[in-house]
Parts: sequence; structure tokens; C-alpha cells
Amino acid sequence: MSDEYDVCVIGSGPGGYVCAIKAAQLGLRVACVEKYPVLGGTCLNVGCIPSKSLLSSSEFYYRIQTQAKDYGFNIADLSLDFSKMVEKKSSVVTGFNQGISGLFKKNKVKEIHGTASFVSSNEITIDGKEKLKAKNFIIATGSKPTELPFLPFDEKKVLSSTGALAFTKVPKTLLVIGAGIIGVELGSVYNRLGTKVIFLEFLDRICPTLDTAVSKLLQKLLTKQGLTFHLGAKVTKGSSNASCVSLDVEIKGKVEKFSAEHALVAVGRKPYTEGLNLKGAGVSVDEKGFITIDENFKTTCSNIYAIGDAVDGPMLAHKAEEEGMAVAELLVGKSPKIEYMAIPSVVYTDPEVACVGLTEDAAKKRSLKVKVSQFPFKANSRARAIGDDEGFVKIIADDASHQILGMHIIGPHAGELIAEGVLAITKKLKAEDIAHTSHAHPTLSEAIKEAALMITSKALHI
Ligand code: FAD
Ligand code: NAD
Repeated sequence: MSDEYDVCVIGSGPGGYVCAIKAAQLGLRVACVEKYPVLGGTCLNVGCIPSKSLLSSSEFYYRIQTQAKDYGFNIADLSLDFSKMVEKKSSVVTGFNQGISGLFKKNKVKEIHGTASFVSSNEITIDGKEKLKAKNFIIATGSKPTELPFLPFDEKKVLSSTGALAFTKVPKTLLVIGAGIIGVELGSVYNRLGTKVIFLEFLDRICPTLDTAVSKLLQKLLTKQGLTFHLGAKVTKGSSNASCVSLDVEIKGKVEKFSAEHALVAVGRKPYTEGLNLKGAGVSVDEKGFITIDENFKTTCSNIYAIGDAVDGPMLAHKAEEEGMAVAELLVGKSPKIEYMAIPSVVYTDPEVACVGLTEDAAKKRSLKVKVSQFPFKANSRARAIGDDEGFVKIIADDASHQILGMHIIGPHAGELIAEGVLAITKKLKAEDIAHTSHAHPTLSEAIKEAALMITSKALHI
């Protein structure tokens, strides 16, 4: 297999497969090498998609249990068939695995399975055997979960997100170390299915990258659903045996002991470049292991580029996709631009959380003069009609010009609603632009219009 390609993409996650398809659509001869037997990377196989499938199924189950009566349904014999729920998740994933393979065929991307390792800047080996040459390489090898040194993953008792997505029966008790995005999403899934879930979070609030008001309300609402949070909690020791995991946790200067059937360690992820032999190609990494790139995704080797979780920045599938598209365009001489300020982030809890741009605290830290508005879903007719009225839309705008600098939504369908904020920030719109745009009635999106009106003058419905 000593064929020469214009581009060889290493890794088939959302960064890699999108880059491969786009490059092929732009007329380049493309190969994509993937270590695993299926395409789609972390996102499809052990990340975004399986977690969202379980989140959706478990939310359905939880709402039937807690809300059906309010809507006039009497469901006498509700019971959980967890294996069916798992089967549904797996079938969604398999469908997309095949879907990406189909897209590769359609776009004439050569699909190759095996571990890529650089021999030189224009040649790799695959599983140490076959060789492949290309004019350009794109490294899109993603990230892996971070381990605690004293509590290594065994994926039976001490779990990463991968293990926590692979339960075959619902655990009775689960300790979650780290109340970040993975923690609150997967913790929500099992809490809804009946697991006693206890969080141990090092900082003084959950999901610390969110706007403070949003993270506080999220904690309050998740606590109401039965999740237990210990903040300022430092796990100092851990051990596991066949029946449980035990932890020593320092909280307010005292050591407390916790134990549960399993522990999920969700304290972040780190770039994954093992086995690539980056040195052999002259590609450098920074002190955290992220591949060093310039503003055009070029590594320290002039024909090798890197994108997605393997480079510094938010570890999000759509950020990886944007970079994949951009690097393909760069290779054919276009000048794409990614607006990183306008990359949204969504937490798929109930209620959902979605944000884009600056938080109020970040704006203050930068000494920006801002105007802040907050419109509650309780004053939105659609939210009231569907019985889902917790939360708010918060807008951060420049005080003088009213240009939108941040939008933070906690509430029903926040992940869908945030697209309006993303567009506003990308196109540098002002609150007036949203306030004077017609929003259908009754819709949740009217809450965004009202929050924009509050920046320009006054809301109509509070
Ligand atoms: P990856 O998706 O990690 O893909 C990298 C691929 O490279 C892998 O398939 C790997 O096998 C392959 N590879 C590695 N080394 C080699 C090699 N030497 N040779 C060949 N192949 C190699 N993000 C969101 O935006 N929304 C979400 O809802 C969301 N949910 C998540 C839920 C969980 C539980 C997790 C863990 C993550 C979630 N993420 C989410 C993050 C998202 O999955 C990542 O940001 C995204 O997958 C990064 O894409 P990537 O293409 O950079 O890398
Ligand atoms: P995270 O950075 O979101 O959260 C990690 C949490 O662990 C933080 O709250 C941090 O303070 C805490 N922590 C760190 N060390 C600790 C320790 N020793 N003890 C206790 N707490 C500790 O990381 P994550 O939840 O592991 O997620 C990893 C990445 O995956 C994120 O960057 C995220 O972008 C991505 N992801 C995204 C989504 C989504 O977009 N919906 C879903 C899941 C994952």
C-alpha cells in the first residue's frame, strides 16, 4: 500500500472524518486511518451520541414517573428494561458507524483501519506494517480521560466515561469525582434510573466554566432531582475490591470516607498522541501534551496539521468539526476563519444548559462595561404551557453599543435555542437586532427576544 495521497487524516472522530470528507469534496485524494474497527471516534462511539441516547431514554422514564399524573396519565405497571435501553443506544451508534463509512465511499475517501505512526514527515506505517505516503497529514487523534494517579481505571469498579456508558445493569450507588459536564450528564442518567449518585467536586461550584448564576441554578435543580453534591471536596486516597470503591475525601479540613458500588472519575480529558511517533516527524507538543500549532493549524512540521481535542481549546465535537472543515479549505488555498468566541457549549441535563461567548464574570475580569439581562422562562407562555418553566435566558451586552457578548440559557431546549446567540455573536449583532426580529408565538425563543428587549429598554412580559 505505498500509494501517495494528497491528504491523510489520522483519526476518524468529528474532526477527522469531517476533514476527510471536506478535503475530498474539494478535489483532493484523501485517506483516513482509524485505529479502531469502526469510524466516528470518541464522539460517536463513547461520547456525545451514546450519552445523549441514554440521557434521552432516562429522561423519558423519569418524566413518566414524576410527571405523568400531572398530565392525566395513570401508568400502573411502569418498569425498566435497561437492556433494551442499552440496545437502543448501541443501535444508534452502529447506524452512524455505517453512515460515516457510506459517506466515505460516496466521497471517495479511502477508509483504512490500523494505528498510524510517523516514519517521516510524509510517510506513516499502519500497525507497524504497511506504509502510506501523503503530501499532507492531518492529526485528529482526539483525547482520552484523565486518570487519578491513586485510582487507576479498571472500567469495572473505577470507571471513566467509557465504562460508565457500558453498564449492563443499573448500579445501586455511584460516586462521581468531578461535577463537570461528563459528571452531571452521566450522573443524571443513572440518578433517573434509580442509582444513588454522590458527587465529589474539588471547586466550590459545579460545571465551573458556566456562568455562575447558571451553575448555581443547575445545582439547585439537580439536587431537587436527588443528586447529592459535595463541593470543595478533595479526594486524597482510593481503593477498590470486587464489591465496592472506597475513597478518603478532604472536605473543609476533615477527612470523610465514602464508598459505593462504582466510582466514575470525570476530572477532565487529555490530548491523545500515543504511538504516533511525533518526534520522528518533527512535531512538537506543549507541556500539557497538546500538539503545538500556528493560526493555520500547522504543526512544527510544515506539511503536518493538527485539529480537534489533540490541540488546545474547548474539547467539543463541533469545534473539532469546524477545524476539520477549515484545514481542508486551507489546503486548497482558501482562507477560512473560525470565530472561537462563538463556539457554543451545551450540557444535556434536565433542564438543559447552553452558553456562548463571555460569562458575566469573564466580562468583569476583562473590565468591560456591560449590560446584563435575565428573562425567566416562568414568564414565557410556551414554557408554562408545556409545564417546563424553570430557568432563564441571560444576555451580556456591551453597555454602550449593546453588541451581544454572551448568551447563557438554562431551561427547556436550551441547546436548540442557543443557535440564535451563536449567530448574534458571529455576526456581531446588537440586542436591538434580536429585539426587532419577529419570534413566533408561543415559542421558547420569545424568551431570547425578551432578554434582548431588557438590554435595549424593557421586557414586555415581566
Ligand atoms: P476523537 O473523537 O477523540 O477521535 C479521535 C480518533 O482518532 C479516535 O477514533 C481514535 O481511535 C483515533 N486515533 C487515535 N490515535 C490514532 C492513531 N495513532 N492512528 C489511527 N487512529 C488514531 N462534545 C460535544 O460537542 N457535545 C457532546 O455532547 C459531547 N459529549 C461527550 C460525552 C462524553 C462521554 C465524552 C467523553 C465526550 C463528549 N464530547 C462532547 C466531546 C467530544 O467527544 C470530543 O470533543 C470530540 O470527539 C473530539 O473529536 P476529535 O475528532 O478531535 O477526536
Ligand atoms: P470538565 O473539565 O468539564 O469537568 C471536570 C470537573 O472535575 C471540574 O468541575 C473540575 O473542577 C473537577 N475536578 C478536577 N480534578 C478534580 C479532582 N481531583 N477531584 C474532584 N474534582 C476534580 O471535564 P469532564 O467532565 O471530564 O469532560 C471532559 C471534556 O469533555 C470537557 O472538556 C467537555 O468539553 C467534553 N464534554 C462535553 C460534553 C458536552 O458538550 N455536552 C459532554 C461531555 C464531555
